[in-house]
Amino acid sequence: MTATQTEHFTVRRSPADARTLPLQLPLPPAGHFINGSFVPGSSGESIEVVDPTTEAIITSVQAGTADDVDVAVAAAVAAQKTWGATTPKERADVLNLIANIIEENREAFEAIESANTGKPQAVSEDDVSSTIDTFRFMAGASRTLTSMAGGDYATDHTSVILREPVGVVGVITPWNYPLLMAAWKIAPILAAGNSIVIKPSEQTPLSTLKLAEVLAGRIPDGILNVVTGRGRTVGQRLSEHPDIALIALTGSVVSGQAVAETAARSVKRVHLELGGKAPVLVFPDADLRAAAVGVRNAGFWNAGQDCGAACRVLVHESVAEEFTEHLVREVSTLVIGAPDAGDDVEIGPMISRPHFERVKESLEEAKAAGLTMAVGGSVLQGTGYFIEPTVITNVPSGAPIATHEIFGPVVTVETFASTEEAVRRANESPYGLSASVWTRDSSRSLRIPKQLEFGTVWVNAHLVLACEVPWGGFKGSGYGRDLSLYALDDYSRTKHVMINHGA
Ligand code: NAD
Repeated sequence: MTATQTEHFTVRRSPADARTLPLQLPLPPAGHFINGSFVPGSSGESIEVVDPTTEAIITSVQAGTADDVDVAVAAAVAAQKTWGATTPKERADVLNLIANIIEENREAFEAIESANTGKPQAVSEDDVSSTIDTFRFMAGASRTLTSMAGGDYATDHTSVILREPVGVVGVITPWNYPLLMAAWKIAPILAAGNSIVIKPSEQTPLSTLKLAEVLAGRIPDGILNVVTGRGRTVGQRLSEHPDIALIALTGSVVSGQAVAETAARSVKRVHLELGGKAPVLVFPDADLRAAAVGVRNAGFWNAGQDCGAACRVLVHESVAEEFTEHLVREVSTLVIGAPDAGDDVEIGPMISRPHFERVKESLEEAKAAGLTMAVGGSVLQGTGYFIEPTVITNVPSGAPIATHEIFGPVVTVETFASTEEAVRRANESPYGLSASVWTRDSSRSLRIPKQLEFGTVWVNAHLVLACEVPWGGFKGSGYGRDLSLYALDDYSRTKHVMINHGA
């Protein structure tokens, strides 16, 4: 495979550093949000929230404690009794109201999300639009929740199957899509009649707190509570709390394992959306240019900090050179910069200094192993945690860069010789979240997805999502489904009532 080292990328800074200063941001109040109000934390300790583009401290939030969680859970338990007894229509009205309120405040959400994560404006806009759509979808979907038909399945006994909320749900979210990942949980959980205590990532708590602020007094008190803080304190207490019926986490495999282990002690239900390392299988009959554009878009969206990112290409050896040329050309056109440095900025910074260092180390290891940096491969100097969009070729089977989740703007290209080999190597991953297949052969477009061990398989597409269809993984990527009617199913329970009507 030929290597095409391109020119170096540069970071486009915002004009005269006039980008949203922390003071100008419509920041939410400090404190936890419990029973409809912001309250101080019990520890008096705080956690700094950093802008990864400027490395400036935006603000601080409370470092929550187990006691703070206990207060929030008590509020959620009390509120759930009334909320769980509402009709689907009443709950749908509240969810539609939430969608409208977010829409009214969309500029504030976009500004906060871009400042806290460094996301380009286009990504923040997409996140907020998808958040609104998630609430609207779940508003409608909640009114269709159903269960098995009642009937006489034993002589003189009539069975009725009730669908009920599970109770209080604990939610733990990651930093890559702070508002959207919160919405993916909050919308179905409330729609199914549960109440919530949510812990946003300690790195990106601002949009979840903003949501609480704009909803305060407009939705029933106590159905949505936010406790900020660290995983090992707040997350741990949510996982073990006896009054929490189900704990849902989107995050890394290690965090998922910790939560599941703790939750097992109280036999709590667990819902896990964990990491991914999506393979992209490019067959010889594929539209190679379309496949390269697909990888450009889906591999580098949100700077590759996406659990479904198209980050591991497996291309047939006969077309590898041509495909790589397309990919190198496409990736070379990506614009890196601050969120407000122009509408054409597509790549922002890594979320934090430690994450930046991790991605940098992975690139250095790949270089030391003799792999080819066909595009990028370096960190960008100056303020902010920017890394060049990178395509690595000559990647052997089993190389760490192609098997570990890098979670940055890095795509690797491996080659395969046969269909059997492509499927086997794709499935060798410990993850099973998503994959894509690129082919113009209609039979292959159905046959290959059936053989792949991933919760979502796209054909001639990658990272296209819709609220109607489920999102979730197999194997190390966890279990439980976000979005769609399947999420509502996960956040409710069935009860069988059998009535003896014999003499
Ligand atoms: P992370 O696991 O470090 O943190 C996620 C959340 O878990 C945070 O709120 C953190 O405070 C909390 N946490 C950490 N340790 C905990 C513990 N012991 N007990 C309870 N809570 C704990 O993940 P991250 O770095 O914020 O996010 C990136 C990860 O999330 C990646 O692995 C990515 O693939 C995954 N992710 C998955 C999906 C999906 O839909 N499958 C979506 C987005 C992100």
